[in-house]
Amino acid sequence: MKVEILGCSGGMGLGQQTTCYRINEHTLLDSGSGLGNLPQNELLKIKNIFLTHSHLDHVCFLPLLIDNLFEAIKTPIQVYALPEVIETLQEHIFNWKIWPDFSTLPNKHNPVVAFNEITPWQKIEVEGISYTPFPVEHIVPTCGYHLLSDSGQTLAFTGDTTYSDSVVETINQLGKLDVLMTECAFPDRLYELGKMSKHLTPVMVKDLLKTLKTPPGQIWLSHLKPSQHLEIKGELERLQDDLASTDIQILEPCKTFQL
Ligand SMILES: [Zn+2]
Ligand SMILES: [Zn+2]
Repeated sequence: MKVEILGCSGGMGLGQQTTCYRINEHTLLDSGSGLGNLPQNELLKIKNIFLTHSHLDHVCFLPLLIDNLFEAIKTPIQVYALPEVIETLQEHIFNWKIWPDFSTLPNKHNPVVAFNEITPWQKIEVEGISYTPFPVEHIVPTCGYHLLSDSGQTLAFTGDTTYSDSVVETINQLGKLDVLMTECAFPDRLYELGKMSKHLTPVMVKDLLKTLKTPPGQIWLSHLKPSQHLEIKGELERLQDDLASTDIQILEPCKTFQL
């Protein structure tokens, strides 16, 4: 399983793009501004997009991608998301005011995009990898995805989430993970804001790792707010001494991992 980090920032700035990961050639996890790091010939290869939630930093390049590929698309791009997320996208983005409703274009029978409703814990098989949505805890309906490759590699991507007993229980249910890919949006001094906006801070990442039955081999962290990037990074680096069994990596854009 190839994981390409296209965007992993919690905001914008020079060299900072928001959440978007490519799995092998044809599949995306979220479609934030990181998608803009792919050249046109690579954009043409995208066939499937799994969305975690409707927040702008995770969907902002989806409308532009569809528009960009409109003429070239032969079969619909398959977008997978929770029913509430699809409803929000249709009501607030693909509503002919912000952007055309591409699920009816060029016609309803063979549109350029198809929205597929997903159900937590029901897996979807795509090109040798199963994607199983699982619940997390954020301020809008959100799911993560558990990826299992044919050759047995496992990666769980939480999307945006905070730390809670139910999140721990869910991640425990996923079993052994090679990689836990999650977020760390704020520094610990903004712990209350993290709790309120349902994100993670370094101490919550530490609590999460310490309470998991089986800590993952690696934890990949993203979504650091650009204005507090160095502060969060410093706090996360100090966690490593405490958490010897898990390798902590702070993601950087345009890096590719082979699992
Ligand atoms: Zn969010
Ligand atoms: Zn976000």
